[in-house]
Formats: sequence, structure tokens, C-alpha cells
Amino acid sequence: MATTSTRITIRIRPWVAAAACRSVPVDIFFPGEGYKGQYNEAALVCARCRVQPECLEWALTHEYHGFWAGTSERQRVQLRRAKAMDADVEAM
Ligand code: SF4
Repeated sequence: MATTSTRITIRIRPWVAAAACRSVPVDIFFPGEGYKGQYNEAALVCARCRVQPECLEWALTHEYHGFWAGTSERQRVQLRRAKAMDADVEAM
């Protein structure tokens, strides 16, 4: 049975219902402080997820911690900067 929080999440982001990460422990996406490794396990899950484009769009605007859509925090910072630079160029 879906929890209230899960139902609210799916109402806000309908694509979450098809997310591959729904069936794996969330810890692999949020390993906690002191974690120095790579997100290898999470990356494998994201690689087979059919809603990765929607997830990435969400993560770029809402998620600053953890591994989302095949990207680490640092990678999303770089992607946000690249998007901002593209927007600046288009505005010229
Ligand atoms: S791309 Fe990764 S983090 Fe995003 S919904 Fe799919 S499995 Fe989850």
C-alpha cells in the first residue's frame, strides 16, 4: 500500500510511478556523510530507468543532494552552469 507521502509525490511528479528506483533502497542514492566512493550502484539503476529525462529536469531545478537521474551533486552543478551559460548566449 502506498504511503500518503508516496501518493503526494506521484501527484506532483507523475513520472515517479515509473521510476526504477522505487524498488531499491534509497540509501544507494543518499549514502550519507563521509561517503567517498562513486554512486556505482545508483548509476546502474538510473541507466535502466525509462523516466531519466524527466527526473533530470526535476533534479536540475529541485535536488541539490544525492544521486539523481544518473548525476551526482557535482555533475548537476556543472549542468546548471552550462544551462545558464546557454541561456545567456541565447539572450544576446
Ligand atoms: S533516473 Fe534514477 S533517480 Fe531518477 S527516477 Fe530513474 S532511477 Fe530514480
